[in-house]
Amino acid sequence: MDRGDISDAEEIVHIYSYDGPQPYNYEPAMLPRDQEQARINVRQNGQRRQIELWCEENRWRTGQVSWCLCGKCEAMFSAEESQCCREVDAYWALVENVTPRLDVQCLTLHPGFEACCLNPYVLQIAYMHFRQDHGPLQASRHEQYRYTAYRLVVRWAYGILGRHIRKPLPACVVSAIRGQFPEEGGLYKGFEWPNFVDNQ
Ligand SMILES: [Zn+2]
Ligand SMILES: [Zn+2]
Repeated sequence: MDRGDISDAEEIVHIYSYDGPQPYNYEPAMLPRDQEQARINVRQNGQRRQIELWCEENRWRTGQVSWCLCGKCEAMFSAEESQCCREVDAYWALVENVTPRLDVQCLTLHPGFEACCLNPYVLQIAYMHFRQDHGPLQASRHEQYRYTAYRLVVRWAYGILGRHIRKPLPACVVSAIRGQFPEEGGLYKGFEWPNFVDNQ
């Protein structure tokens, strides 16, 4: 399980949204905050382009699970969601790095997965953390649980992240979380990462 450092991590990158008069516009050199913003924009655009290219090349993955190596992935509507826990190093390392070795074929069978990502009490506490930093999540109750669980599993796999750092969620992980916190009526929106303009 992760340390209690979510709020610190979320504060790594500050987005400045001031769009009033710019008294230093004539200055050829950028202010430090503008340089920081420019670096963020370049990184985000590069990352977005990389993901778009990957999705274009992997459109064949949607609607089927021939790419799944863990036996737990379900067919997804988008290529981005159609990845197996064993294909993404950060997730599979969580299984491989356990000593003594875990005899499981999927991250969702790791004992830490249920403890951190499916346990409603853990998720309630994690959601309070989120809410303190970002305000309430406008979503149904189970959507709040799912969204919080997605955040936790990304944090578990990747550690400290700045805002807007977009990471994949394996289909088996998404399926297990949806199974635990199903939407009434069984209709799911595809998982949407925070877009590039809001500050979630
Ligand atoms: Zn799989
Ligand atoms: Zn899996």
